[in-house]
Parts: sequence; C-alpha cells; structure tokens
Amino acid sequence: MGQFEQLHLYEPVTSDEILKAVFDQALMVSLKKEPRPDVEARFYPYTGLSSTIRLRRGTVFARVSDILKGSPREVLFALACILVAKLYRQRTPKAHERIYKAHTLDPSIREASEASRRSRGYKITTSERGKTYDLGALFSDLNHLYFKGTLQRPVLSWSPRPTRRILGHHDHVHGAIIISRTLDNRAIPKFVVEYVLYHEMLHMKHPARVVSGRTIYHDRGFREEERRFDRFSEALKWMERLAVRSSGKPRKARRCSA
Ligand SMILES: [Zn+2]
Repeated sequence: MGQFEQLHLYEPVTSDEILKAVFDQALMVSLKKEPRPDVEARFYPYTGLSSTIRLRRGTVFARVSDILKGSPREVLFALACILVAKLYRQRTPKAHERIYKAHTLDPSIREASEASRRSRGYKITTSERGKTYDLGALFSDLNHLYFKGTLQRPVLSWSPRPTRRILGHHDHVHGAIIISRTLDNRAIPKFVVEYVLYHEMLHMKHPARVVSGRTIYHDRGFREEERRFDRFSEALKWMERLAVRSSGKPRKARRCSA
C-alpha cells in the first residue's frame, strides 16, 4: 500500500488545487524516475464526461470534466492514473478502470452527464444528405419495411469526419443517429449503409438497460431482431472487411458505439 495510505480516499475533490495534488500523486506512483513533470490540473466544463491530458514543454496539462467535481478522491486518483498511463503509453491499471467506471455508472453522475450534453449542446453540423446516400430516405424505407413505420424520425446525420472503427452511433439524449462518413461512398453498397442504420434504429426500439451495474446495449431481443435484416450475413462480412481495411490486419469490427 504505502503511498496509497496517504490518500484520503473518500474526501471529495472540490478544487483545482486538490485536483493538482491528485495528479501529482498519480505521477509519483506511475513514473519511477525523477524529475517528474509539473502539473496543471483543472476542472473544465466539458460536454459530458470527458477528460484530457497533454504534455507540453515539460508540463502535464490535465482537464477533467467538472461533472466529477466533488467526487471522492479515490475516483479522481483512479482517473488520474488512467490518464497518466495513456500519456506515457503504459498499461492502464485494471483496478483503477474498475473504480472509475463504477463511479460513472452512478445514477447521479449519469444524469449530470446527460444534462450537460443536453444543455451544452454538441452541435451536429452536417446534414442527412450525403454525397452518395440520403439517410432520410434510407430511414423512411427501413422504418416502413422493418418497423411498420412506428419509429419517430430522429435527427439523422453523417459524421463530420470519416470514422472507420465506429460506423454508427445512436445518441439517445439528443434523439440522433450518426452514421460514419466512411460509408457515404459509391464503393460501399447500399445494403451495407442500410444495415448500419438499421442497427442504430434498433437501439431506438431497444433502449440500453443497466443490469447489476453493467450497461447492456445489445440484449437478446436486439440481436434476434438484428438477424431479420434481409442481407444480414453479407452485411456482417462487409463489417469485417471495413475493419480489416482500417487497421491493415483483421480485428473485430465495432459497428456501433451505443
Ligand atoms: Zn449497437
């Protein structure tokens, strides 16, 4: 334990000053060699639960979502260790991940995070009509074909930039579906775009559930209904191909970031 005993684990971190001390502690634990960099840490009004870390001219700059202001020191220490590990390309300590994740699943934190995303915006700057495909038209067809037209039309948008690893996202806070611009391309068959959109539409119909602390995005009902997609297995093969192309080697395709 040693250094950990010095931490006042449950004391809330209420100021930038204490946050800085937490990051100093994380650097001390993570970096064996001296001299260690200076730290500037502060709470920042991010949209949602974002945190960032950078090293510039020998100083570590850390910004932590102000939603976490007042969280127990243990949680912010865990987050600081995760961020420091990322910065120095070290393996992220599993215990810290567990502590931080558990805290973010706390209903009060989830609510604050969602409220901040609602009020602080997160602008959708692109439109549903792409160069090749029109998401509005595709949505109407799929809604008619698979949902008897019962789904409310969400905000539909292509992602601002191509993103190969994550092809679709359903944002239940804003009632929006974002599809990766990577798919707005003549080289991608229409049914592939339809499949990704269909998957995100299923998220509208099957909302995520929290079961003993874990969030279930794709439950059995979701998966069964997903298989009803007309060219399901062909679409899956395309998902794999897209994933291979993005990394140069085979890897598991991530279709959505629910
Ligand atoms: Zn999904």
